[in-house]
Amino acid sequence: PAQRHVFQDAAEVGAVRRALLAWYDSCKRDLPWRARAANEPDVDRRAYAVWVSEIMLQQTQVATVIDYYNRWMQKWPTLQALAAASLEEVNELWAGLGYYSRGRRLQEAARKVVSELAGRMPRTAEDLQKLLPGVGRYTAGAIASISYGQATGVVDGNVIRVLCRLRCIGADSSSPAVLDQLWDMANVLVDRSRPGDFNQALMELGATVCMPKAPLCEECPVKQHCHARRRRLLGTCPAVPDVEDCDVGGCPLCPPATEPWDSSLGVTNFPRKAAKKQPRAARTATCVLEHRGRRGAPRYLIVQRPSSGLLAGLWEFPSLPLALGLQEEKQREALA
Ligand code: SF4
Repeated sequence: PAQRHVFQDAAEVGAVRRALLAWYDSCKRDLPWRARAANEPDVDRRAYAVWVSEIMLQQTQVATVIDYYNRWMQKWPTLQALAAASLEEVNELWAGLGYYSRGRRLQEAARKVVSELAGRMPRTAEDLQKLLPGVGRYTAGAIASISYGQATGVVDGNVIRVLCRLRCIGADSSSPAVLDQLWDMANVLVDRSRPGDFNQALMELGATVCMPKAPLCEECPVKQHCHARRRRLLGTCPAVPDVEDCDVGGCPLCPPATEPWDSSLGVTNFPRKAAKKQPRAARTATCVLEHRGRRGAPRYLIVQRPSSGLLAGLWEFPSLPLALGLQEEKQREALA
């Protein structure tokens, strides 16, 4: 890839690491899993605690996760405790957090560590990803860098945004080619002696400074290294020739020729994503069956959903999907 899309200069890589770590040391948010990762001497317990936080944080805001995390760790402070829990208990604690399969898979994987790996967490990102169900490349890298100090990068939504801006990557950021490029870049950048802090700093920067809609570029610790910012600044100064995309047409990382740089967007030209799939509409008929017991207390009929698919294994009032556009008459028949 062209030079503007990568970090090639060792001096610049060093400067980015130092700036990000210094910023993180003074500005990082005080979060319960960070304290635990810093203070827990037992390596398996530490990795377990990081793992729980990372799974909860997928698709969920930090502010929502804090309470759930604290309750979870209080109830199941170790892999062994989680492995001994029932799925109902896990679902009960997870209630309200969404994407319920996360809790179930976390528990399945904990059982696997206890029964097949003698309670020892795999010690590298590669093994974590290979051996633990539900642990993908990102989670494996996060656990290995934060708990074990393995110098391996991570790429999540925040990192994608920051890196695409730092290096003006305007091709579809969900495409495999761009993601490969970003993983390579994260592995080049990650600090060798404080990889866990560096990865968290990069993600924290995306969450609190390099935000999707209104990034705070002037407060950004790596603004000197940001090509998107440089391009925006040059664009507003007519005396300086604009930095253009790479050679016309050929670059796989520049914005596509059909959607070039839009100066009204500034740095938020990056990242770019292919259009989202339309959400799927579904209609469901639901039956609430109440039964008065002898003392008048109501009881309700609930059933368990299948063990795979949407909301797998959860309990609900009996329901069935209805074809879209079904006449009311037919709906009643179907429900009956
Ligand atoms: Fe993001 Fe702005 Fe910092 Fe560039 S300068 S990394 S766009 S916050």
